[in-house]
Amino acid sequence: MSDLMLDFRDVSLTYPGGTTALASVGLRVARGEFVSVVGPSGCGKSSLLRIASGLGTATGGEAVVGAERVGYVFQDATLLPWLSVLDNVALFPRLTGAGKAVRREQARAALETVGLADFATHLPHQLSGGMRMRVSLARSLTLEPDLFLFDEPFGALDELTRELLGEEVARLFAERRFAGVFVTHSVSEALYLSTRVLVMSGRPGRITDTVEVPFAGERTPALRFTPEFGALAQRISTGLREGYAA
Ligand code: ADP
Ligand code: MG
Repeated sequence: MSDLMLDFRDVSLTYPGGTTALASVGLRVARGEFVSVVGPSGCGKSSLLRIASGLGTATGGEAVVGAERVGYVFQDATLLPWLSVLDNVALFPRLTGAGKAVRREQARAALETVGLADFATHLPHQLSGGMRMRVSLARSLTLEPDLFLFDEPFGALDELTRELLGEEVARLFAERRFAGVFVTHSVSEALYLSTRVLVMSGRPGRITDTVEVPFAGERTPALRFTPEFGALAQRISTGLREGYAA
């Protein structure tokens, strides 16, 4: 099997109403690569992820999804309020047809991974926003995704919670080496997590800059305060501003 999880060539998307959301997007993401996408609101980032997940279809070009198992995490944790944390996490393996005992075992392991083993019997409303997002991550982890899509997952959280969750995602990526595509408005979050950052223009979204991120291996919080990090953040931020002005 190829390691290439996503291969977009010249992908464009025009919605039936006539809005062109994406123009000429090329994107290749292999296992072991974590690609962040930053761009102005409405430039087509969520549309891009929908195509990558197989839920949406490009209207031009070619979008090949090589992944077998796709994880998809949104800003809203989308937990069922009447189910315990454990049962919420066990929902996804249910879709794969696993038996009840196996599902619970997978769910428990995933909760352990995100540091929530002690909260298995809680209901979603008894958790903080950051904890609910961890549950959402755990639920996708049970799928053992080879392609993991994130649509502004931490946008509603305070800055420190957001950084801690980013560190969690960086750790998961270092362990599991899936292919990641992460949409965010935060330049530092994009840089911290990624092996590559794509800057998109305003609608119709096209890729205006591709930044290869040189920091090797597992990230540590101090990375955010190095001059190399600052220089790359400035480049991405400048590119983003040009997209907003357009
Ligand atoms: P982003 O995630 O970057 O904010 P989206 O991908 O959500 O952008 O949307 C890009 C553009 O496509 C927007 O102008 C939006 O209004 C439009 N759009 C998104 N989804 C649909 C849809 N299902 N039908 C028609 N237009 C849509
Ligand atoms: Mg969006």
